Amino acid sequence: MSDHESVRQLLALSAAGLLDCSQERMVREHARQCAACAAELDEFAALAAGLSALPSPQPPAYLLARTTALLAAEADRRQGAAFAAASAVFAFALVLLTGQALRTLVGDSAALAWLAWAAITSVFGAASALVLTSRRRLERSTV
Ligand SMILES: [Zn+2]
Repeated sequence: MSDHESVRQLLALSAAGLLDCSQERMVREHARQCAACAAELDEFAALAAGLSALPSPQPPAYLLARTTALLAAEADRRQGAAFAAASAVFAFALVLLTGQALRTLVGDSAALAWLAWAAITSVFGAASALVLTSRRRLERSTV
């Protein structure tokens, strides 16, 4: 690629002030010797000046508040899911350990009764969690 072509690709970046010192020096030295690049650099400089003079739109105030609230809700949801998973693992281990302890101390029938009781209450607990989760989603969707 010729020096002219490589410099031409950098003219817009030069006008925007985005080149490092060595690239900027290379563009300026070439533009002093090449009228076409100098003219194009002047056009880009005028465009850059015009763009920087335009007012920059500000996002509406509610957008930041709404985005912050959504991010906080998502973080809360993830934290709640992690806590629920850890609680479920802990409860499962506790039920198994209690069942094993009952089996050792009292016998198989007590351990089976315990495991059946734990299974029934777990099903009701899981159903309650699903109902609460769906209700929470419904409340969030109506806000
Ligand atoms: Zn040139």
